Amino acid sequence: MLTSPVEFFRNLIKKQCPECGQIMEEQAESYLMECDRCLAKKEE
Ligand SMILES: [Zn+2]
Repeated sequence: MLTSPVEFFRNLIKKQCPECGQIMEEQAESYLMECDRCLAKKEE
């Protein structure tokens, strides 16, 4: 089963941490941009 490039990029835009580039499917409904790791770092 092939994934089209368009769908591939849409998934990236969907939810990707701008800090480390991690895809965050579990936070799809969250308003947060960064992943848990980067958020934890910023709070300090
Ligand atoms: Zn991150």
